[in-house]
Amino acid sequence: MSSSFPSYEDVVQASKRLEGIAHRTPVMTSSSLDDRLGAQVFFKCENLQRIGAFKFRGGYNALAKLDDAQRKAGVIAFSSGNHAQAVALSARLLGIQATIVMPHDAPAAKIAATRGYGARVVGYDRQTQDREEVARELMEAQGLTLIPPFNHPDVIAGQGTAVKELLEETGGLDALFVPMGGGGLLSGSLLAAHAISPDCAVYGVEPEAGNDGQQSFRKGEVVRIQPPDSIADGALTLALGSLTFPIIRQYARDILTVSDEHLVQAQRFFAERMKIVVEPTGCLGAAAAFNQIVPVKGKRIGVLLSGGNVDLSAYADNIRAV
Ligand SMILES: *Cc1c(COP(=O)(O)O)cnc(C)c1O
Repeated sequence: MSSSFPSYEDVVQASKRLEGIAHRTPVMTSSSLDDRLGAQVFFKCENLQRIGAFKFRGGYNALAKLDDAQRKAGVIAFSSGNHAQAVALSARLLGIQATIVMPHDAPAAKIAATRGYGARVVGYDRQTQDREEVARELMEAQGLTLIPPFNHPDVIAGQGTAVKELLEETGGLDALFVPMGGGGLLSGSLLAAHAISPDCAVYGVEPEAGNDGQQSFRKGEVVRIQPPDSIADGALTLALGSLTFPIIRQYARDILTVSDEHLVQAQRFFAERMKIVVEPTGCLGAAAAFNQIVPVKGKRIGVLLSGGNVDLSAYADNIRAV
């Protein structure tokens, strides 16, 4: 597995591969929000990306770089979330067979969506089986290439294309708020921001209950935590990666946290005022800006909305008037 660090040039190459294939998602604004915060806020709407999240960018870029033998043998990923759908759709577009390892008890809608993109779904038992072992056996038996969700140079480079597009559209920004799980999106965003808007302060934002990234950033080494409890289900990773941590350590201004209640308030704001559906994890960056975890008054800021895939009944509960 390739383990060299990606550069901004890799983000540029990724954006060429994605041109005409990924959506160039809209940048939205809200004048009532700007008035309330005394700031100018630009939302990069990756909730409107293909598969409903930015993960299509990294997944497609990684698959598009495989050689003929790797394409022929097929790819494998373990995920029950947006990465699974990103790999499944990318594989279909490139004519590659994808195998996705998911727990038997994953939501039926997610299993169906992944199968709908033509992927083979292999189930495992959360209680008795280790998903990495299940995946490794399949890889070895069938020569499949593993596509990791964040700790891979081509995945990171692909994720960086969203912020590249944002900054090309807005020009330089004072600050940028990016949701963070394993740090693939943040790492790619940092490479793009450092090259295009070098004075921009870039913040990673994670759930309060799962602040391994904040602990790691402050301690200067990767800190691993117990499985956290938060509605931000795309950011429940236990530790940053060997590629993502050094990039974050070098370029990020800080790692911030927000509560689940802040995420729900942000979901409600997007539904009511901006008419868009954003999943809890997708609201991490927005919640940090809205609650002025760092001051934003008088600034031009970017907020990455990373995804919009919600469970409808949980979403209805969250946005119900209180
Ligand atoms: C995966 C995901 C994240 C976190 O991305 P990382 O690269 O793991 O930091 C954030 N938001 C959404 C919607 C995701 O699917």
